[in-house]
Amino acid sequence: EELYGLPAWGAPYFSADAGGHVLVSPQGGGGASLDLYDLVTSLRQRDVELPLLLRFPDILADRIGQLYSCFERAIARYGYDGSYRGVYPLKCNQQRHLVEAIVAAGRPYCLGLEAGSKPELALALAVLEAHGDPSGTDGLLICNGYKDRDYIAMALLASRLGQTPVVVVEQLEELAIALELSHEFNLEPLLGVRAKLSAAGSGRWSASTGDRAKFGLSAPQLLAAVEQLRASGQLQCLQLLHFHIGSQIAAIGTIKAAIREAAQLYVALVQLGANLHYLDVGGGLAVDYDGSKTHSDASKNYSLQNYANDIAAEVKEACDRAGVALPTLISESGRAIAAHHAVLIANVLGINTPPELQPSAEIALSRSDSSSSDSSPAESEHALVRELRDTYAAIAPDNLQESYHDAVQFKDEAASLFDFGYLSLRDRARVERLYWACCRQIRDCLRTLPSVPDDLSHLEATLAATYYVNLSVFRSLPDSWALQQLFPILPIHRLDTEPSERATLADLTCDSDGRLDRFPSTSGHSKPFLELHPPVAGEPYYLGVFLVGAYQEILGSAHNLFGDANVAHVRVRPDGYQIEHLIRGDTATEILARVHYDAEDLVEALRRRTECAIASQQIALPDAQRLLRTYERGLRNYTYLEQ
Ligand code: PLP
Repeated sequence: EELYGLPAWGAPYFSADAGGHVLVSPQGGGGASLDLYDLVTSLRQRDVELPLLLRFPDILADRIGQLYSCFERAIARYGYDGSYRGVYPLKCNQQRHLVEAIVAAGRPYCLGLEAGSKPELALALAVLEAHGDPSGTDGLLICNGYKDRDYIAMALLASRLGQTPVVVVEQLEELAIALELSHEFNLEPLLGVRAKLSAAGSGRWSASTGDRAKFGLSAPQLLAAVEQLRASGQLQCLQLLHFHIGSQIAAIGTIKAAIREAAQLYVALVQLGANLHYLDVGGGLAVDYDGSKTHSDASKNYSLQNYANDIAAEVKEACDRAGVALPTLISESGRAIAAHHAVLIANVLGINTPPELQPSAEIALSRSDSSSSDSSPAESEHALVRELRDTYAAIAPDNLQESYHDAVQFKDEAASLFDFGYLSLRDRARVERLYWACCRQIRDCLRTLPSVPDDLSHLEATLAATYYVNLSVFRSLPDSWALQQLFPILPIHRLDTEPSERATLADLTCDSDGRLDRFPSTSGHSKPFLELHPPVAGEPYYLGVFLVGAYQEILGSAHNLFGDANVAHVRVRPDGYQIEHLIRGDTATEILARVHYDAEDLVEALRRRTECAIASQQIALPDAQRLLRTYERGLRNYTYLEQ
């Protein structure tokens, strides 16, 4: 478990037991635990096949509770005369059962929702109406993103249903529409402005801020908005200042700088007469995917408490200095709420090891090479083979680079000689086997050294085994492909035995990008391999990909027509567990329908074709029937490999 950094990134939700199985404890430290391997086994006995996304809604509730208690502690610590209201940004994961679980868990806290488009607003309204607090003390409904008249009208009129929508102006044109429509509807809108900060962002989403950012109002535009509101006598409607500097902000310094600038803007807008009382710091609260607690892209160099403290402290200082009343603090934390709750389970289908050699066999080749039928091997063996054998024999910790480059040179020379007919296939094979033996020997020596020279650093990855896993990276882990995002991956069983293989993972797609070859490490530097166990014949080997609850599902794509994975929502109870929802993944018929193929038409076309083939005796009737039956079954089934 240490090997995979499980205690560092998994606590308090994931741990390993003495039998080497991963446990999930959805309520954090105190509550009941469940063995993931047993859960997967029992789901498979119920025909729920892999890959399988396991959701633990209690983790969502715990994350929301943590977020609120950290802000409450920060508020108490700094004597902050105001409160905190969380808002869940739907873009992070819009799946219905998840959103319903978040709304239900957030009700005691008045957790709101954030929408960034018309469909997200539509679902927010419906979910809040169906699952929100009937007493009308729901959280805020923050309306971000580009808006047309319908978006703004829908948002404004939602206030008539008892919702608290805030139309956040991202472009000046939206303000004019909002004012015009609220006049038409005869209501007083709750308006916000999104500021384009000049504080530099960092990490992958650094372009979310700064002068050329896609969203938000610059300083002159903020002033223009204030003047427009003043001119129409509605400056009191401007109640919220929002900014967002990107997701997964790894460095607390970046967050502090942004808050400082935003707090000054807040003060300045109040001094201009705006009736502000909400400061919405957007998203960005990062998740520690590698457990390193550094400012690497996969981590963060601050805790949740640290984040809340710095926000409360910076805002209080700026407001107190200017004698301005403290705002209600809002954060739109998506990743930090949703990432932990979902685990993707996939099985290993097979493994492929790199060219292997029994070095002793090759090295021992002597004058009596029995595999050779030609006269004496010493005479028939090419000089290059001897050179490589000598290189192999001389490998030592102080000549690794030299040995490697010699081996490469001999292999390249052998390839050229073979092309011109000067090297036999037998010698070429010997050269290749010896070359790989040298690489393995050099790699093994490197493992004993404190540091690895740059030109040899690829050897671990080159010599790693490939484990084929039953999933699509494009469907289930798109950020690992598109953004080189790291997710913690480990077997969910056999952790009580030392893994002997170093491996990379290949998915089912026919795409060389469909692989996972960088893995998190608690050092903060990614590793080019994952330590895994050799598969045992007849036994499954399950890998869990953790912290995948944010962004992955909705950004996933149907490359090679692999569809949605099966999903199980699991509640862990002291006496067992309950599958609250089981959502079957796509069948081939469903995924084909998305690209406008009708399954019945397909079957009918194939049936007609087989009849012709039977008539012309190209296929026998039993084979034709077998083909049709397999085809129809394939259309009804899951898009992944059956085990
Ligand atoms: N708010 C806005 C406006 C966003 O664009 C995003 C996502 O990038 C978020 C909130 C959520 O950010 P995070 O998931 O980092 O909390």
